[in-house]
Amino acid sequence: MSYFEDFTIKEEIKKAIKDMGFEEPSPIQEKAIPAILKGDDVIGQAQTGTGKTAAFGIPLLDSITNEPHVQAMILTPTRELAIQVSGELQKLSRHLNVRTLPIYGGQSIGHQIKALKQGVQIVIGTPGRLQDHLRRRTLKLDRVQMVVLDEADEMLDMGFVEDIEAILKQINVDRQTLLFSATMPGPIKKLSKRYMVDPVTVSINRGEVTAPSIDQAYFKVLERNKLESLCRILDSQDPELGIIFSRTKKGVAELTESLQARGYLADGLHGDLTQSQRDAVMKKFRDSSIEFLVATDVAARGIDVENVSHVINYDIPQDPESYVHRIGRTGRAGRTGQALTLVTPREMKHLRAIEAEIKSQIPTKDVPSIEEVVE
Ligand code: ADP
Ligand code: MG
Repeated sequence: MSYFEDFTIKEEIKKAIKDMGFEEPSPIQEKAIPAILKGDDVIGQAQTGTGKTAAFGIPLLDSITNEPHVQAMILTPTRELAIQVSGELQKLSRHLNVRTLPIYGGQSIGHQIKALKQGVQIVIGTPGRLQDHLRRRTLKLDRVQMVVLDEADEMLDMGFVEDIEAILKQINVDRQTLLFSATMPGPIKKLSKRYMVDPVTVSINRGEVTAPSIDQAYFKVLERNKLESLCRILDSQDPELGIIFSRTKKGVAELTESLQARGYLADGLHGDLTQSQRDAVMKKFRDSSIEFLVATDVAARGIDVENVSHVINYDIPQDPESYVHRIGRTGRAGRTGQALTLVTPREMKHLRAIEAEIKSQIPTKDVPSIEEVVE
């Protein structure tokens, strides 16, 4: 086992790590941090919730100087993630004098341009909005030393590959390139071959795709009883905070309304909301003024909210990788979580495909009877 003390990094960062309450490096941090500090291009693969942000964030912050130009750039799949990564870096750099700026669509570009002019050292953004700034020449990458592709599998799923390549082509070739991902599908390997130099791969728990701290179960339900079944499950489980997944934006809106009508503290997150609406919903969820976040896959990507005790698949995902991403929203940083999936008879094939992907069987449970719910 190693300790944060053992790393050759700035004392200010060590102090911030202590403030954050991290006692020891997670396995991916233990392996990735020394490799990145050495200057290698690094591919880091580990399950969601294993601390990949600090795995690149700590050595990245260590390399930043006081000079007021953009020295590092982090690409993330969504705006929420850009904000989240920026928040984590701000915590890690609280004793340093480093300016980080999240850049994402839906926020006034004028505000971002102004902030950039003030001398930002680290930018974190979605590939689309970063491209906007590059085209307007409001963001200069000529002195970028380090690039991170965070949650690379999700960025590719979201169709960002061309934006990513266009951005990487503009950054000087002696930069250090880091790529972090929960899964390593073919297109990512291809991307890494093209844009990384002799990358070192650090991989944790290869093949075991779900974190062991997540208890999984599925409930057989009939389509017409789905809402009733969900409510009974929620009442019997009494989650601290839960994310409920629905397949479509319309499904999210309808389910949110039904839950609210039954008195649950729920709100919805989907792509049709404005950025300020999304931020407001996320804030309510983070500070627990709502108990349930109803969301589509895209809206919930990468969200790291502490104390999410339950992930509930109201609609089972059709592709097994989404299942892994969804349930990774709970059981984070060593805490235990419940991942519960409602399955209608004709969705059983999706359940089997998921079991094949995660290489284990998901146990089944009965929907609680009304007597079990009403005491
Ligand atoms: P990932 O990117 O792998 O999904 P995150 O970087 O979002 O995971 O980290 C998940 C959570 O774990 C965050 O809340 C983070 O602050 C916390 N965390 C990270 N590293 C440690 C550590 N060494 N000890 C305790 N908690 C940690
Ligand atoms: Mg992450």
